[in-house]
Amino acid sequence: KYAIGPPIEDGFYYDFELPEQLTPDDLPRIEARMREIVQAEQPFKHEDVPREEALQRFADQPYKREIIEGVEEAEGAGGDTVSIYRNDGWQDLCLGPHVENTGKLGAFKLLSVAGAYWRGDEKRQQLQRIYGTAWPTEEELQDYLHRREEAEKRDHRKLGPALDLFSFPDELGAGLAVWHPKGGRLVRQLGDFVREIHVARGYELVTTPHVARSGLWETSGHLEKYAGNMYPPMHDEAGDYYVKPMNCPFHVLIYKSRTRSYRDLPLRMSELATVYRHEKAGTLHGLLRIRGLSMDDAHIFCTPDQLIDEVLGVFDMTLEVFRVFGFEEPRIELSTKPGEAIGDEAMWARATEALRGALDKSGMAYDVAEGEGAFYGPKVDFHFRDAIGRSWQLTTVQCDFALPERFDLEFMGEDNQRHRPVMIHRAILGSLERFIAILIEHHAGAFPVWLAPVQVKVIPIATRHDGYAEKVAARLHEAGLRVEVDESRETLGKKIRAAQLEKVPYVLVVGDKEEQGATVAVRDRAGVEARGVPLEAFLARAIVEDKERALETGDVGAL
Ligand code: ZN
Repeated sequence: KYAIGPPIEDGFYYDFELPEQLTPDDLPRIEARMREIVQAEQPFKHEDVPREEALQRFADQPYKREIIEGVEEAEGAGGDTVSIYRNDGWQDLCLGPHVENTGKLGAFKLLSVAGAYWRGDEKRQQLQRIYGTAWPTEEELQDYLHRREEAEKRDHRKLGPALDLFSFPDELGAGLAVWHPKGGRLVRQLGDFVREIHVARGYELVTTPHVARSGLWETSGHLEKYAGNMYPPMHDEAGDYYVKPMNCPFHVLIYKSRTRSYRDLPLRMSELATVYRHEKAGTLHGLLRIRGLSMDDAHIFCTPDQLIDEVLGVFDMTLEVFRVFGFEEPRIELSTKPGEAIGDEAMWARATEALRGALDKSGMAYDVAEGEGAFYGPKVDFHFRDAIGRSWQLTTVQCDFALPERFDLEFMGEDNQRHRPVMIHRAILGSLERFIAILIEHHAGAFPVWLAPVQVKVIPIATRHDGYAEKVAARLHEAGLRVEVDESRETLGKKIRAAQLEKVPYVLVVGDKEEQGATVAVRDRAGVEARGVPLEAFLARAIVEDKERALETGDVGAL
C-alpha cells in the first residue's frame, strides 16, 4: 500500500505499508529497477479526474483514498476533481508539474530506510519510509554524498559528548542540555565575545527574569500567536506565569520604565538570555533544535528617521561578527508578512519598506521570501555556508511597528510632542547552543585557539618531569591560557594520541633537555613539531592567537 512521497530538502521519500521488512540491502535492487524505468523514457500523463472516479481507481489503496477524501473541493483544477499523474502501469496523486518523461530524471540514490507513522500519528499504522536524493547531474550527486558523509563524521551529537562538551540528561526532559566544564568554557568564550562587541557598538547590557505573568504575554500577542511554542503556565495566587520564549516584552518594559526623549534614542538593549520554546518532540535535533536556548538577543528602540541607519548598523555588525568565524559572503533574504500576524497592513508595509530600504542602501544582493516573516514583523535573514558547504540561517533582523503600538511606547520629540518609537529585534549568532553545534561541525571539533576548551596540553616525558610540566602549565595559566597537564602513566605516544583525539591546538612535550633550557617541544594539531622553543616565545605566540581570535594556528616551524 502506497502512502505519501513528497519532495524534501535535497531529495525525497516515499512511505509504504509492506508485508516484508525492508533493509538497506534492498535499496540497490530498487535503484536498479528505478534505472530501468528512467531508461524506458516513460511519458508522464496528467489527468484531472472526478473525485468519485479517483476513489474507484484507488479502491485498494486506503491511504490514497484517505488523501482524496481529505482534498478540499477547491483544490482540484475543475472543481471537484483530483489531479493524477500516470506513467506506464503506475498512477499517483500529484498536483504536479512533472517532467515530460522518466528519461528526464537526473542522478539519484536511495539513502536509507526508516519507520514512520501514517500522518505522523503514533496511534496509526506504522509504515516503512525510503529516503532518497536526486540531482541534475552525477557530479552534483557525488558532491552531495560527500557532504553527507562529512556531515555524519562531524555530527555534533556524536562529537559533543566525545569531547565532553555537553549532554542531554533524560531527567531534564527532551531538548534541554547541560554544559560540562569544557563546554562551559566554549559558552563563556562566545559569551564574552558577544558582550564585548555589543558594548563596543553602543548597546546596553540588560538582565531580565525567566518568567512573567500572563498579562504581559497577552499584551505582546504571544499568547494569541505563539502559545503553541510556549511551555504550559504555572500558577500562584497572583495568576498564571509563563516561561519566556522571547525577551522582547521585557525589554519593552525597560523602555517604558521612564519617560524617553529623542535624545535617548536610539536605545540599544542587549541580553544574552536563555529562553524556552516548547518545540515538538519530533523536531528536536541535538543542539540545533532545542527547547532551552540562549539568544544573543537585542532590541533597538529608535525614531522612524533612524530606522534605516540602525538596520544598516546591524548588517555591518553581522558581517564583522561572522568574519571572526571565517564565515563570509552571506545569502540574504527578506521575509514578508506571514498568514498569522499582528498589526495592520500599513504597519507591515512601512516595516517591509524600511528593511528593503536598508538592503538597497547596503548594496548587498538579496532574495525575497514571501510570507516567511515573524508574526510581529518582516525580517531579514543572513545565511552563511560552513566548511562543507551547508547553508545555515544565522542572523535575523526584524522591524516592528506593532509592539510599540501594543505597549503604547512613546518618546518626546524635538517638537515637544509625543511620538511612537520603532523597534528592531535582532539576534546575530541566533542561539549560542545552535551556533556551537554549527561550529563543532564546521571545525569537526578542532576549534581555533580562542575557542578551544583546552588550548595547551603539557605532556611530561617521564614522572621526573612532572614538576617542570606543572611549572610550564602554571606560567601559561597565569598568562590567561587554558592549559592541562597529562600526568597519566601512559606512554608518551598514547598521551600525544589522546591530546590529538581531544583536538587540543598545542601539545607541549617536556623532558630533561626542555627543563634544562627552559624550553618546550611544540606540536600542533597537524603533528608538525618544533623542539627547543623558548617557553616565553611559545607563550607570546599563543597569547596573540588567543587575543586576536585567530582562525588558524601559525606555523610551528617559525617558533
Ligand atoms: Zn524580540
